[in-house]
Amino acid sequence: MKEYALDLQLHGKYAGGVSRNMEIPVMAEQSRLKGLNVLVTGDILHGQWFEHVKKNIEEESNGVYRDLKGTCHFIMGGEIEDNLRVHHLFYLSSLEAAQELREKILGTGKGGALDCSMCGRPKLKLTAEEFAQQVDNVGGIFGPAHSFTPYTGIYAHSDSLKNAYGEMHPHLKFIELGLSADTEMADTMKENHDYAFLTSSDAHSPWPNRIGREFTRMKMQRPDFTSLKKAFGSRDEDEKLITLNVGLNPREGKYHCTACNSCFAKYTIEQAQGLKWKCLACRGDIKRGVRDRISMLADTHKGIHPKFRPPYMHMLPLAEIIQLSLGTKNTNTKAVQSKWADFVGRIGNEIHVLVDAKEGELREVDDAIAKKIIAFRNGLVLYIPGGGGQYGTPIICDTQEELARKEKELAKELSGISEIARQRTLAQFG
Ligand SMILES: [Zn+2]
Ligand SMILES: [Zn+2]
Repeated sequence: MKEYALDLQLHGKYAGGVSRNMEIPVMAEQSRLKGLNVLVTGDILHGQWFEHVKKNIEEESNGVYRDLKGTCHFIMGGEIEDNLRVHHLFYLSSLEAAQELREKILGTGKGGALDCSMCGRPKLKLTAEEFAQQVDNVGGIFGPAHSFTPYTGIYAHSDSLKNAYGEMHPHLKFIELGLSADTEMADTMKENHDYAFLTSSDAHSPWPNRIGREFTRMKMQRPDFTSLKKAFGSRDEDEKLITLNVGLNPREGKYHCTACNSCFAKYTIEQAQGLKWKCLACRGDIKRGVRDRISMLADTHKGIHPKFRPPYMHMLPLAEIIQLSLGTKNTNTKAVQSKWADFVGRIGNEIHVLVDAKEGELREVDDAIAKKIIAFRNGLVLYIPGGGGQYGTPIICDTQEELARKEKELAKELSGISEIARQRTLAQFG
């Protein structure tokens, strides 16, 4: 068995808000630079995208697909929206299974428009249970995407997976955590102990600060659907098949805290309830954050992990670490891009730079940036949390002393409650 790094949630170029560069050859080449071995095709129910995929991948051996240059392996799959606006992921064994599922869904008369410009996540009129049944009928597997997020996460609408999937619930094998949650948070809910956790990027562009910003490592016989299904189903404690979940610190996620969705002022759940979910600063709507949603559903304070659960590693895209080190405005500047190319060109791929490369190796490329990478690995990082649709902000410190000082200086910003919420609710509610 070999270990693979997989990103199993992303969208093709025909889906709404997705880069024109999201094409199989570009995705494959960028996954090599990132250090990923297997990608989902994404959007496989979309007619035009299906044709694009068909033209740009080939079957290496029975059920194992790769791009035409043989750079990266692909597994058939995509994301759909059900009748309650909840998003689900699904994976299939072959192009033929994808074709069959498309026809079956259209045949129900509840398919909605599978090929519209927004149809990376086609809006179906099927319930979660009905959709899961359709996927199961063609031998595929399914699970909820970004499970805890407001609007489209399964736990936004339901208190339990059992209620949400009904009769199909026993067939559920995995849940996708989304950017605003991690294993520690999700395992505070006993119900989740029955499932494998998937971490994936939901990327809308192929560049390495997007694809693989979250990914999952697993041991597989072959980089295909059969081995994926086996890994999700494995409860072996001695030989874990899923070996690592990797993702952003949940505090970076844009729905981590309960916050106003227009000015991003952050509130505690009690404050939000007291205010009837209307923002004090701008009268915008306050959206319940993932942190508070999970606390409401949690059975324990701290995550208690089932024995098969792999570790969760927090990660930051290399371009963002370089940006923080150089102090530039964003990751698209020439300076950031050229340093990124130096590191990846000399060391191999981004994941290797971030996770495995030795300090000496990194310092030979750029001393100051190497220090930031090492500091990040050592946990010298604080996050001003995100919420209401705004991403959180990481701050990487150089020493323990700096970390302790900044923790004090920035205590208010780091708390996840905005000043306006603090002052006005104190005045209003004592
Ligand atoms: Zn989604
Ligand atoms: Zn507001």
